Amino acid sequence: LVSRENHDSRTVVRVGGVPIGGDHMTLIAGPCAVETPEQTLAAARMARAAGAALLRGGAYKPRTSPYAFQGLGEAGLRILADVRAETGLPIVTEVVDPADVELVASYADMLQIGTRNMQNFALLQAAGEAGRPVMLKRGMSATIEEWLMAAEYIAQRGNLDIVLCERGIRTFEKATRNTLDLSAVPVAQELSHLPVIVDPSHSGGKRDLVLPLSRAAIAVGADGIIVDVHPEPEKALCDGPQALVSTDLDQLADAVRTLPALV
Ligand code: PEP
Repeated sequence: LVSRENHDSRTVVRVGGVPIGGDHMTLIAGPCAVETPEQTLAAARMARAAGAALLRGGAYKPRTSPYAFQGLGEAGLRILADVRAETGLPIVTEVVDPADVELVASYADMLQIGTRNMQNFALLQAAGEAGRPVMLKRGMSATIEEWLMAAEYIAQRGNLDIVLCERGIRTFEKATRNTLDLSAVPVAQELSHLPVIVDPSHSGGKRDLVLPLSRAAIAVGADGIIVDVHPEPEKALCDGPQALVSTDLDQLADAVRTLPALV
C-alpha cells in the first residue's frame, strides 16, 4: 500500500489544510514538550515567525528514564488546542499508548508515532483507525524496509495519510545524539509514494547542528522539516540543548524560504 509501485504520483498529506509533500516544503516547529500555556504559546509564536505551518509539541513524552518529565497528558492536549485557537496553527502531537489514541486524536490534527514505538504494532493499527494523518518516525535501529513495513500497518487499516520522518539512527558515532541518515530521504522517496520529512533536532541533539542539518535535509529533497523551539531552553523540561532560540529563527526561515527553489 505504501510502495511506489502502482502509484503514479507522490502523495500529498493534508494536515488541518496544510499540505505535506508534492512541491511543498513544510516546516513544523514547536516545543519538544508542552510545559505551560505561556511556554507553549511563546514557542508557537516562534514557530510562526520561522515560517512554520504546523505546531509540534508533546503532551505524552516517551522518556528513557521513568524519573524524567513524562508530559502533561490531557492537560497538555488542552493547552495545545488553546494555542491552536490563538495562533491558527494545526497541531502535531505524539501518542504512545493504543489506549490513548482516540483521546489524542480528538485534540490533534496529526498523530505522531515516535522512534521508540515504530514497531508497536497495536499502536500503529490504532493510529490507522483514528481518522487523522499520522507522522511515523523511523525507529532508531530500524532499516528503511522495516520503517516502510511499519507504515504498511497503518495503511492496512485504511489510512494512507502517512508522513515518514527520518530522525537519526544509532551508529558508533558519539559526537551527535543520533546519526542523521540523509540517504534515507531519497531512498524512502524512491521506494514509497509517501512524503518524507526530517527531524534535525532529535538527530543532532544540539542547537548548533539544527540549521546545518535543516539545510542539508532541504538540499537532499525532504518534503519538510520538524524542529524544536523553546522560549527559554535553559529551563526546558525536555531536550533544551537542541531547541532553537529566537535569534536562530531568521536563518531557519531563510533556509525554508530560499533553499527549496535551488534543489
Ligand atoms: C519527539 O519528537 O518529541 C520525539 C520524542 O522524537 P523521537 O521519537 O524521534 O525521539
